[in-house]
Amino acid sequence: MPLIDRFGRAHDYLRISVTDRCNLRCIYCMGPEGVKHIPHQEILTYEEILQIVAVGAELGIKKIRITGGEPLVRKGVVSLVEGIARIPGISDIAMTTNGILLPHYAAALKKAGLKRVNISLDSMREEVFKKITRRGDLRAVQEGIKASLEVGLQPVKINTVLMKGINHTEVADFLRLAQEYPLYVRFIEYMPIGDHDRKYGRRYLPLSYVKETAASMGLPLIPADPPAGAGPAESFTLPGGKGGIGLIHPISRHFCHSCNRLRLTADGRLKACLYWQEEIPLRPAAGDRAALRELFRQVVGSKARQHLMSASAQHGPVSPGLMRNMSKTGG
Ligand code: SAM
Ligand code: SF4
Repeated sequence: MPLIDRFGRAHDYLRISVTDRCNLRCIYCMGPEGVKHIPHQEILTYEEILQIVAVGAELGIKKIRITGGEPLVRKGVVSLVEGIARIPGISDIAMTTNGILLPHYAAALKKAGLKRVNISLDSMREEVFKKITRRGDLRAVQEGIKASLEVGLQPVKINTVLMKGINHTEVADFLRLAQEYPLYVRFIEYMPIGDHDRKYGRRYLPLSYVKETAASMGLPLIPADPPAGAGPAESFTLPGGKGGIGLIHPISRHFCHSCNRLRLTADGRLKACLYWQEEIPLRPAAGDRAALRELFRQVVGSKARQHLMSASAQHGPVSPGLMRNMSKTGG
């Protein structure tokens, strides 16, 4: 029986956070000191993850996204991709990464069975990139993007969180990037996750700003079919463009009605929604496939109709459970 919830939504997509650790400290994701790390022994082993994916696949999970934290800082992640690719029923494996280590891993990941990659890049200006990531090397990410295109990860998407006063003046540059290269640039609305960014209210900018910028450049955004795995993004092409544009607005236009996702945290908790505190630890059921199946069903059965992020954006976080930031939950 597939994983269908009380509102008729079928779940075929599992996002797995393989680590809460990261080699960057992005201002919208964590504070300058990073996050308090989950102890090593609490992090799921690859063997445990593979078993959970196999059970998920029996229940209709087809798509996997590997994320974090930064997935490429966890040792052996290529072998995890290889293992997942061998599980019957899994037809799509993607990764979200900050791209810093991609120049080293792109070819091996492709060979292991990774199909596509989302690379986070919020600025193409060195000083702004440093300000956002607090420590990143822009050149490494650009090399990572190049390597991903060269090895044939397809499509290569760029995740860009729009922030007023930080990178909003670069929207035009990102639109041109999608014109010149076969890259799909997804602007993401800044989300009020975690309590590390007290400036959220001042930095939030709705994505209508991207449309206004395109219009002011005389550049029509042409509605288009989304590329593979575009999920809830509103998709566009640009005249003569090699790539495309996606707009992801979880706040101003939430897309809960079509949500098909489940999330597995690095410490083995299954969540039905990024933005709700409910989560069920799977580790107690490790090794018992029937018990794992039951826990999958419980999580899906308790999924809420929609999240409260819009309210949170206006009034501050709405419940303490929402404070698990993206690096812990898996963005
Ligand atoms: N480290 C990887 C990366 O940065 O791509 C994967 C994990 S990261 C948490 C996943 C995505 O979440 C990134 O694209 C990041 O930009 C996004 N993200 C993190 N915090 C966010 C926030 N407060 N609002 C919107 N997007 C956020
Ligand atoms: Fe690390 Fe990704 Fe969070 Fe940036 S967004 S700090 S790269 S986990």
